[in-house]
Amino acid sequence: MGALERPALIEGEPTDEGAWRHWLAGLRCHELSLEDWLPATARLVVVAPHPDDEILASGGLISTHVAQGGRVQIVAVTNGEASHNGTPAVNPDDLAYLRRHERWLGLRQLGLAQPSVVALALEDGRVQQRGADLLARLMPLLRPDDVVVSTWENDGHPDHDMTGQMVRRASVAIGCTHLAAPVWMWHWATPGDTRIPWLRLRAVPLSAEAGSRKQTALAAHRSQLGPRSADLGAVLGPAIVARAAWRTEYYFV
Ligand SMILES: [Zn+2]
Repeated sequence: MGALERPALIEGEPTDEGAWRHWLAGLRCHELSLEDWLPATARLVVVAPHPDDEILASGGLISTHVAQGGRVQIVAVTNGEASHNGTPAVNPDDLAYLRRHERWLGLRQLGLAQPSVVALALEDGRVQQRGADLLARLMPLLRPDDVVVSTWENDGHPDHDMTGQMVRRASVAIGCTHLAAPVWMWHWATPGDTRIPWLRLRAVPLSAEAGSRKQTALAAHRSQLGPRSADLGAVLGPAIVARAAWRTEYYFV
């Protein structure tokens, strides 16, 4: 998740997680056929704005692909050093180090024995100002037969939005398949929200094992799961933790 410098869409209380589940059950969202969209021979590239986004967006998909013998490459846009801004006791460099370690532990829980992570180390909270740089650095990392996952470009967090936009542009230029995962959208949008392109949403059902690995992987991100100080709550509150337990992941195509 990370710093919220432009939190217009993601302030306040999250939309009730149970209300989403109830509504999504009636949506009859088309399922994404992994045989067609993510064959075991393809490389899955997950571009994550902050450590933990690869799990929130696609932890189940990563685990499923690894279990089939598929290759996974993580591209880390930032090191997440700004998640505790407003907590003077936490040094950003120390936090970045800790979060990289948490990411490594989390990816191990998804079944990656030796996680492969390319760290772009853009400044957390300022990806919006570095779009051209991000695009230039993504281009040499992608190949036409990759399947690339990013956050959705209208997710509501500026780092997530710019990451999604630049990954879409890079994917079009190179010719790879792009899946865009909503992460923050579930916080601010509401069931049936007319701002959301529901017809482009696809469901990926997760096996019990993939779902369980995703939850264990998220638990590795301890710095995000507990209160940051006496005044600041956890970055990952109960609603997002509950959503990470869903046995379905959703992607815009
Ligand atoms: Zn994030």
